[in-house]
Amino acid sequence: MAISQRQLFLNHLAQTTDFPMGLEIVKAEGVHMTDSNGKDYLDLISGISVSNIGHRNPQVVQAIKDQVDQYMHLMVYGEYIQSPQVVLAKKLAEQLGEGLDNVYFVGSGSEATEGAMKLAKRSSGRQEIISFNNAYHGSTQGALSIIGDEDFRRGYRPLLPGIRRINFNSKEELEQITNSTAAVIVEPVQGEAGYISPKDNYLQALRKRCNEVGALLIFDEIQTGFGRTGKLFAFQKFGVKPDIITLAKGMGGGMPIGAFIASKELMNAFKNNPLLGHITTFGGHPVSCAAAIASLDFLLEGDLIKQVDAKSKRFAKNLQHPKALEIRAEGFLLAIQLKSFDEVQKVLEYCLENGVISDWFLFNDSSIRISPPLIITNEQIDFACEVLRKGMDLL
Ligand code: PMP
Repeated sequence: MAISQRQLFLNHLAQTTDFPMGLEIVKAEGVHMTDSNGKDYLDLISGISVSNIGHRNPQVVQAIKDQVDQYMHLMVYGEYIQSPQVVLAKKLAEQLGEGLDNVYFVGSGSEATEGAMKLAKRSSGRQEIISFNNAYHGSTQGALSIIGDEDFRRGYRPLLPGIRRINFNSKEELEQITNSTAAVIVEPVQGEAGYISPKDNYLQALRKRCNEVGALLIFDEIQTGFGRTGKLFAFQKFGVKPDIITLAKGMGGGMPIGAFIASKELMNAFKNNPLLGHITTFGGHPVSCAAAIASLDFLLEGDLIKQVDAKSKRFAKNLQHPKALEIRAEGFLLAIQLKSFDEVQKVLEYCLENGVISDWFLFNDSSIRISPPLIITNEQIDFACEVLRKGMDLL
């Protein structure tokens, strides 16, 4: 008998847990996924906040096909003038505004973090980077050095020196940011911590402190970007502008791409002494850029982003349940706080059996993650909430 795909997956793909979800998806379209048995699932996590405009958006698919017909990889980053990169950078600059109009394209979120950290050190001449407990910025060694969970860091020492961690939403601790600090990197809504919003104008206070001591402020919008919070970018929602922003995940409409973005003045630090301060072969791959342009156009043309707030409220209302200790919602970054991992697992299993895909968080395993594609309809929201409530009935 032929070896099953499942067995081959277990034999030949590096496993990072003993309990992979192991869904065998053969087709994904819009908010739906179909497995190898023909079972249909409603996707409430968007491949972890990636498929913001749904799976296989037709405009994105067409843009990819058109670009493949022109050219794929031509040259390492930064040497040739490639139209998809130029058009995408201009469109992003228009949306991000003054001070965030110079784009360095990379291939993933972790790479965007690495680039932003290097840029902060290089342009400031300072060495210290401040990040937050429970923050997630990626899994490469630089990004790992600044994430906020010791369990994930422990096995990989030595990591970068000069890192200080403070608590999100604690204004007292802002004093630890000093004139030795190159940059503070923050997720405007903490992601893997379980979707924690800034409270009491915290981001304004953070911006003020950075200005006082001349530290750069980096917003990691890798998970919050591209409409998820009800604005194109979360900094626009909170009215606080960073000096550097990192993007990835939802950016490519399902294709891999990331970026770190700053002013031209800051970015110039990479040009001299030594030149080529950051290098990538595949960063800004033309096919990914073409997909990202189509994805951004799709987001901006319709009123999808405007609908996020009302749809988020619909979720939050319909998810009320005696077992839900708290519903956190910042647009389409929603979390149901339960009592334990055991409860989370029971609800997720029930959801999967009943055709709804959800998940937990890296640093918060007693919460259920809900970050659906923005195109989810009210009917689909009501169906998903009914399944989740029935799951919670079992607790
Ligand atoms: N920053 C944040 C806020 C993220 O959520 C993630 C991915 N979960 C990353 C960085 C890292 O992105 P990638 O997995 O593409 O390296």
